Amino acid sequence: MNYLKLILLPVICITAISCQKGISYPPERPTTENETDDKERTSIDYGDFRIDASELSAKGASGFQAYSSKAWKKGVVPVKFHSNISKANQDLFYKACQAWGKVAKVSCRTKGLFDSNYLYVTNTKAANRCWTELGAGASGGERVFNFAADWCWNSVSLLHELGHVLGLMHEHQRPDRDTYIQVFPENAGDMAYSYDKLSLGAMDNSGPYDFYSIMHYWNGAYSVNGKLIMVPRPGFETFASIMGHATTLSIGDQTLIQKIYGAR
Ligand SMILES: [Zn+2]
Repeated sequence: MNYLKLILLPVICITAISCQKGISYPPERPTTENETDDKERTSIDYGDFRIDASELSAKGASGFQAYSSKAWKKGVVPVKFHSNISKANQDLFYKACQAWGKVAKVSCRTKGLFDSNYLYVTNTKAANRCWTELGAGASGGERVFNFAADWCWNSVSLLHELGHVLGLMHEHQRPDRDTYIQVFPENAGDMAYSYDKLSLGAMDNSGPYDFYSIMHYWNGAYSVNGKLIMVPRPGFETFASIMGHATTLSIGDQTLIQKIYGAR
């Protein structure tokens, strides 16, 4: 719903020193219809990433260890593409993965015959949605990365979702987010759960709160009524037009991924 952004941008600009138009994440409000895949019934959905319910046994703890999904072994993500995924989009996917790989010891490569833990990149599940499962999983196996809408296939969405693949959660769902932003999840209607505050800790997001993170939503993402969902607290007003508009990995993103997989 691009009209939503047109409505919101003037509001955003009133309170911002600079007004960044253009790229934002997530770009559109997804529908929740046609959710017919099995994962939907067994996982907890945070909008564009999912944690399998069986992996939340330690909910309430902090950091990556808080759930039993693991980091990818040696930072390598074996990838299997559904036959529907075009060569151009496969190239886009690898390019985004390389951006993460430039700063940390992570990489993506074609799934080999004996890779039992791998990422299945498809566009066949939950129409008009972009989402992925978080991390490498608790016990290996196939991890699903669903880019079913055409608007998913851009460098920003890929960078963001690959962050989830590698194990990062949302910056704006950090346990300490209320210090920096005021959140009005009721403005997101049935997507309000996308703004749940996670007691899990955002993959051990122990650095400073990062409005520049590729893992931060823009302040009106999923709004159903034209009202903002995230408003910076006093002292942080200038970040209103910065959150959710990252196009590259922030210093904070780089530090966090290096903490998990090691610096390149
Ligand atoms: Zn996300």
